[in-house]
Parts: sequence; structure tokens; C-alpha cells
Amino acid sequence: MNEALIIQDGFVIDPDNLSIKKMDIGILNGRFAPVGEVLNQDQCKIQYLDATGYYVSPGFIDLHAHIFKDYTELGIDPDVVGVEQGVTTIVDAGSSGYDNFSIFKEEIINHSKTEILAFLNISKKGLCHGLSELANIEDLMKIEEAQEIFKCEKSIVGLKARMSGSVVKDNGIKPLKHARKLADNLHKPIMVHIGNPPPNLQEIFPILVQGDIVTHAFHGKKHGVLKQSGEMIPEGIDAIRRGVRFDVGHGTSSFSYKTMRKFKEKYNLSFTISTDIYKNNYSHPVGSLMITMSKLLSLGYTLTEVVAAVTKQAADSLHLSEQGTFKMGTRADMTIFSLEEKSVHLADSEGEELACHQILTPYMTLKTGKVAYKNKDGIKNTRAL
Ligand SMILES: [Zn+2]
Repeated sequence: MNEALIIQDGFVIDPDNLSIKKMDIGILNGRFAPVGEVLNQDQCKIQYLDATGYYVSPGFIDLHAHIFKDYTELGIDPDVVGVEQGVTTIVDAGSSGYDNFSIFKEEIINHSKTEILAFLNISKKGLCHGLSELANIEDLMKIEEAQEIFKCEKSIVGLKARMSGSVVKDNGIKPLKHARKLADNLHKPIMVHIGNPPPNLQEIFPILVQGDIVTHAFHGKKHGVLKQSGEMIPEGIDAIRRGVRFDVGHGTSSFSYKTMRKFKEKYNLSFTISTDIYKNNYSHPVGSLMITMSKLLSLGYTLTEVVAAVTKQAADSLHLSEQGTFKMGTRADMTIFSLEEKSVHLADSEGEELACHQILTPYMTLKTGKVAYKNKDGIKNTRAL
């Protein structure tokens, strides 16, 4: 028997053409279908969901989070920051490595309502033995190991290389050069974390190719992507031209309103919005993916732009043709949310407070056409304050 559902009267945000339109959305057997086709089903079997006053979007994807709960210092419960916050897919960014991915799969991926994908750390240890995982070259994953694990594990979507001084210690750029070899062999992207050098961006950027992702791109530390003047460093411009993607990766210390404003002023470039959320920054300053999106909204990006950044752009980064879109026949993962009008001050990682007047607030999360979470408080965002 067919399962038929119609989401009625929501403001539908289509990230493929950056539009918002009040309309119905049809779902047949967990996939988007024309409303007319859904109405052709046996009338008593059709379910209706009233979305009046809410925004309806393809499911939100958080490209950078840390959810290896109980096995890493940082790990947070994936569903608390996933479906309960309107996020249908989370990509864990390097918490696990070759040595412990099987535990990650068993304990986290297989037990979450939220879909979990992973950038596998190029260190075999992942983040399970502290945060200097690239200090010892011996810990780097070998090509044969990478080939083996990528062949078996479809939820691994790329590699994670954390390139800051505290992580690589004396190894400088060497781990990233190794990551390049792995990525070229596997034909998968590298997500590179940038922070305090060494290595510096002049060494990092030339190694990156089309499809690689730079996370923490808008941090407020010295030696970032933008010069004092607000101009991007030449290596950054070249990287963008080659098709390297920028990602927010908010985190405890990696998102600066000042940097973001400068970037917005000079560059009309799309990027992805992600949280780098984990146990210690969940309450402050990150909050959730919707809170992070609300900050970008307050900085002047439009609602369709911030939604596209966590749907279409994020899905494109991972080559997920089934997600981030309302195209007919694709998997009906959906995020239904409200835009609450209220005045709150939300901080970046530098301690700057921004007056925000519109807060994205989760209402309902659907996975493959089924309700995975419903906010019982209706429109109250408990994460906002
Ligand atoms: Zn991270």
C-alpha cells in the first residue's frame, strides 16, 4: 500500500531557485511527488500535515559536528543537535579514524535517528586520544587502509585534516601533503580545518583542489583568509577559482562577525554554514545549526541564502543528489521551522554580541517522509537563549 502525505500551506523555500512560495508539498512512499499524483491515491489513505505559518525546506545538513559520544572528549548526542534541531543529516568531521570507525558506526551511526555521515580523520586515532592527532606521522592512515575502508563504508564521504599548530606540532604541512595523496587516490574531498599556524594558509591553499572544503574559513584569528584591508589573500582567491569551497564551522573559537562582515562586503560568494558543535560549545556560543543560521541572517544574508547554505550547497559539497532539494523522486527529508520575531543577543567566537531579531526555530523534522521529531512547544526555541 502506498504511503501518501501532503504538507499543506507552508512557505516553501526552494534552494534550487532561491524562491519562497506558499504551496503544498506531496510525498509518496518517502519521496517527493507531484501533489496531483498524491491526490490520486485512495483518499482515506492520504495523510495531511498543516504547515500554515511555517517555513518548509529540504532537510538541513550540518557539514561539521562532533558526535562521537563517550569515545571522544568532545562528542555530543547526535539527535540532540540533529533531528531535534531540524537537522536531518550530520557529517561528523574527523572524530573517528581508521582504528575506531567501526565503533563509531556501531555506537553512533546505527543508533541515531539523524542520518550520520563522516569525514574520516587522516590520523588513524581520530580524536579518541586527544587533540594533537597529527603530531606523530606514524599515525597517518596508509593508502591501502584508506582504500579498504572507503570501499566498505558508504557513510564516509571524505577526509578530515586539521591543520593548526596545536594539532600537527612539528609536522607542519606534511600531514596535508599525505592527505592530498589519499584524496587523489580515493577521489574524495578533503575538509581542511584552518586555525593558528603553522602551517600557514600560503602553504595550505595551493595543495587544495576543486571540491575540497575549508572549514573555519571565517575565524577571527591572525593569518586568516582575509587581510586587514578585507581583501582575500591571493592564495585564497586562486583556491576559490579552482573550486575550493568555504565553510563556516562556527565552533568555540572559529567564527567572527567581523571577518564575516568584511567577507560579505567584498565577496559575493556562496559558502556552507556548519556548526562545529560539540559538548562544550553547545550551550555557548554555538547553540545549534538554526542559531548559527540566525546569526548569518542578522549579518544581512537572506533567508533563502542561509537555507541554501545548509541544503543545496551542503549536498553539492558531498555529491548527495538525493538531498538538499525538492526535486521529484528524491528522498523526502524535510525541515519545517518558524522564524520567531524576538530580540536576543547572540555571540560569535570572539565574544562580540549581535542583536538578532529573527530566530529560526525548529518545528518538525521529517526523514524519508516520516516525522522524526516534533517540537511540542510549538514555536518556542529553547536553544535561543
Ligand atoms: Zn571540528
